[in-house]
Amino acid sequence: MINDFTLKNQVDTNKFLEALELIKKSRYILLITHVNPDPDSIGSALAISNLLFENKIKHKVYNISSDLPQSLDFLNRFEKMTNILPDFFDLAISFDCGTYKRLGFELDKSTPLINFDHHASNENFGDINIVDPYKSSTAELVFDFFKYNGLNISKNSAEALYVGIYDDTLAFSLPRCDQETFKKINFLVESGANPSYITNKLLRRDSLAKYRMIPKVLDSLTLYNEGKIASIIAIKEWFEQTGAHARDCEDALDMIMSIAVVEIAFFIRYINDKCRVSLRSKGKINVSKIASIFDGGGHFNAAGCTIETNDVEEAKNLLLKEVKKYYA
Ligand code: AMP
Ligand code: MN
Ligand code: MN
Repeated sequence: MINDFTLKNQVDTNKFLEALELIKKSRYILLITHVNPDPDSIGSALAISNLLFENKIKHKVYNISSDLPQSLDFLNRFEKMTNILPDFFDLAISFDCGTYKRLGFELDKSTPLINFDHHASNENFGDINIVDPYKSSTAELVFDFFKYNGLNISKNSAEALYVGIYDDTLAFSLPRCDQETFKKINFLVESGANPSYITNKLLRRDSLAKYRMIPKVLDSLTLYNEGKIASIIAIKEWFEQTGAHARDCEDALDMIMSIAVVEIAFFIRYINDKCRVSLRSKGKINVSKIASIFDGGGHFNAAGCTIETNDVEEAKNLLLKEVKKYYA
């Protein structure tokens, strides 16, 4: 079914139809969200989970970890997510996985895989690849899947898709959020997604620990090259002192990116005896290239990787050396 929503699509639209055919033929479907799942990955998977549930199709939504972002607990079927692989599934669908590694485990080669993603780095590792780097979010691609197939978007699926688009566009503020995105958002709101309800659930249920942790992280701010490069850290002791979760300090990176002179910023967090790195840039520097040096990836302006050391200062120096090359 061709309509307004399809005009700017980069995906071969037959793939949406093929994906639905494969779903209809399958007996048990595994919906896979990526390692360190974010609202785009989970929202996209839960939108399809609600569709499958409404159509009585057996499935599970999987993540390799049981540590999920609890701010998404208001989405229908969030509580059904599992880190236990079912004994049997005859179709897998991955959401927002820029590389095969982001699934977090190896699928049996004989299991067909549908790959929904919007990372430029995507290696088209699926049997059906619904991949478009020009989309703001994977949730936009899942929206297109519904619309091309003339499928009903229930209130529950609409909320999940809204959350994915909202978060991956940094609240509708990134360049890839365009008029098509807003048309979709309008449709999702008409379908029952309530922006104020959702924003309150996402943003206004913080822990106190977050507000004990963020000042420590901001205090670590160091500027280089006349402030064009900024770095912050979060060390093990601060997590122990405050009881904060790794996710509780994510906002600190957005905050320092809001400093006028800062062009590129990175954040090194101690997590599970390793250093988790988040990189952001405002303009010309492709941070996914820097992340890929450390076996990570992401997008032009937002990327991440993990460095196998528990020494935050060591990881910071490794990162700084790579970032500084862009200002040599
Ligand atoms: P984060 O800094 O964790 O918010 O991640 C920013 C972006 O980079 C997201 O789009 C992630 O999908 C991507 N990303 C983060 N870590 C990795 C990784 N280890 N490998 C590939 N992509 C990543
Ligand atoms: Mn993601
Ligand atoms: Mn995404």
